[in-house]
Formats: sequence, C-alpha cells, structure tokens
Amino acid sequence: RSKAMASHPPHRFAAADERDASNRIRLANDLQAAIPNEELLLHYQPQLDLHSGNIVGAEALVRWNHGVFGLQSPSRFIGVAEETGAILDIGAWALRTVAKQAMRINDGRRTPIRFSCNVSVLEFTRRDMVAFVEQVVAETGCRPEWLTLELTESLMMPEPAEVLRVFRDLRGLGVEISIDDFGTGYSNLRYLERFPLTEIKIDRSFVRDVVHSPAKRVIVESIIKLGGVLDIRVVAEGIETDAELSVVKSLGCSVGQGYLYSPPLDTTAFDAFIKYHAISHDQAQQGRLLTT
Ligand code: C2E
Ligand code: MG
Ligand code: MG
Ligand code: MG
Repeated sequence: RSKAMASHPPHRFAAADERDASNRIRLANDLQAAIPNEELLLHYQPQLDLHSGNIVGAEALVRWNHGVFGLQSPSRFIGVAEETGAILDIGAWALRTVAKQAMRINDGRRTPIRFSCNVSVLEFTRRDMVAFVEQVVAETGCRPEWLTLELTESLMMPEPAEVLRVFRDLRGLGVEISIDDFGTGYSNLRYLERFPLTEIKIDRSFVRDVVHSPAKRVIVESIIKLGGVLDIRVVAEGIETDAELSVVKSLGCSVGQGYLYSPPLDTTAFDAFIKYHAISHDQAQQGRLLTT
C-alpha cells in the first residue's frame, strides 16, 4: 500500500487516505510502548472435536487495547508491526503468554488442551526461533506438545529451504506446526508432503463456499483426504452455521472453530466456557445414555 501512495502526488490524496496514513504512523509509534504499557492481550477461541464435541484446542488471537483508539483487532496493527519489526517483540510476548496460559489450564486436566499461537514469518527468519521456543518451554514448564505454531500459507513461499529447516528443528522439540489459511496462498500441495506439518487449517472462505459450490467441496474433500493419508490434522476455520458444520463434518474434517461454537474469548470468559462446556457436554452424554 505504501508503494501506491508514494507514486501519487500529495494533493491527490483523499482526506481518508491522509487520516489512514497518519493513523498508521501513530499506531507504529504507539506500538513500541504497547508491551511495556501492558496494552496487549490475548483472546482464546475454542476448537472442538466435531464428532465428540470435546474442546481439544484453543487459538490465541492478539488484541491491542490502545489508550485512545480502544480495542484494536490484529488486522489494524499486525501489518504495521511487521513493517517496523515490532512483531518480533509482540510474537515473543504472545508465545510466552500462551505457554503460561497452557500451563495454568492444563495443570490437572485429564485431557490437555492444545494451544495455538499465530507466528509471523519474520519471526521464523529473523530470530533463532528454535532456541527461543526451547527457552519459553524451559521458562514456563509448558509441555512442547501443548503448543501449536500457526504459520500463514500465503507467507510460506519466501524461504522454503530455511522454513523447512526450522520446521524440522521445531518438530524435534515436540511443538506442533500448523499451516493457517490453507487454500488462500500458493496452495502448493507438495508442502503437505515435504514439510513436517501436524495440522492444516482450511480457510474460512472455503468453509463458507463448500455449502453452495460443488467444485469447492471437491477441493476441500481432497485436502481432508490428503490430511488423513499423511496423518495431518485438518481444522475448519470460521464455522458460522449448522449447514457449514454438517458439510465439513460429512467431508471428514475432525476439528473446527468458529462463531457457531464461540467467538474468541478473554481469559475469564474462556475459563467459564471450558467449565460450562464440560458440564453441559457430560449432561448431554448422560441424556443420550438414558434415552438410548
Ligand atoms: P487467523 O489466524 O486466520 O484467525 C482467524 C480470524 O477469524 C480471527 O480474526 C478470528 O477472530 C476470526 N474468526 C473466528 N471465527 C470466525 C467466524 O466464525 N466467522 C468470522 N467471520 N471470523 C471468525 P482476528 O482475531 O481478527 O485475527 C485476524 C488475523 O490476525 C489472524 O487470522 C492472524 O493471521 C493474525 N493474528 C492474530 N493474532 C496474531 C498474533 O499473535 N501474531 C501474529 N503474527 N498474527 C496474529
Ligand atoms: Mg490462525
Ligand atoms: Mg486462519
Ligand atoms: Mg483465515
């Protein structure tokens, strides 16, 4: 976007563009102080086993409580953070916070919940990601297999060899690796075979389209089948309706998340969700036993 803006003389800017540009500069500056000021927080979106209904995971999604502009969604500031390099500090903060959260929640749970953290490709290439993850695991006591790192497919192309090496080392540590927004980027099916992935997430746009488009349905079905053959977990993103749920379920998808189940929740609401979900789930199971 900055390229397009630079190519136009200033007098042709619309007022909204000027506001947008100065807002971006303002956000970029303020972002430096967001961590020390404790303005960043994580929301957690539950992931459910589509067949049993159990909570099996949670995706951590960053929010920024800006002093003046209020709660900001990642689409407002992740891009800026990547441009300025602030994403390195944000990513480090996020992974530590997620690991602590995983420890707190999973301590004493019979079946642990997997926690997913979105990771920018810059973190993979600009820092020693493996040593950093190792350090976080050691610091927090979090088990590496409770952590899944999500990397967006559209960003995977730049350094395939480098990314492959880091993936192998991370798998060696025991953390899981997920390709986010699958289907929206280069969609290179060879990734699935060449990279040591443990999960792929089918992008919300596909989940929406499978209900009406037979072609999209075949694509999604193929991805799910491939996941099955290669032993890669397939997660459906952004399930909003019963129709979407029943289609992805019938195509063999095992895990899903979306507004149908729950939006991303702050830690208090997430704790409550886990608690009441477990209770209502047990009651539903008992009800089924009584009626069958
Ligand atoms: P993503 O990882 O693909 O996350 C899914 C997005 O879809 C989230 O938006 C989530 O709130 C939203 N969503 C979940 N269920 C539904 C649904 O049923 N319907 C619809 N319409 N949307 C749904 P969010 O939280 O605004 O995050 C946007 C993106 O920002 C994420 O996409 C991810 O790429 C990035 N992001 C979030 N947190 C972090 C982070 O800590 N680090 C980095 N590097 N990126 C992050
Ligand atoms: Mg994600
Ligand atoms: Mg996604
Ligand atoms: Mg997505």
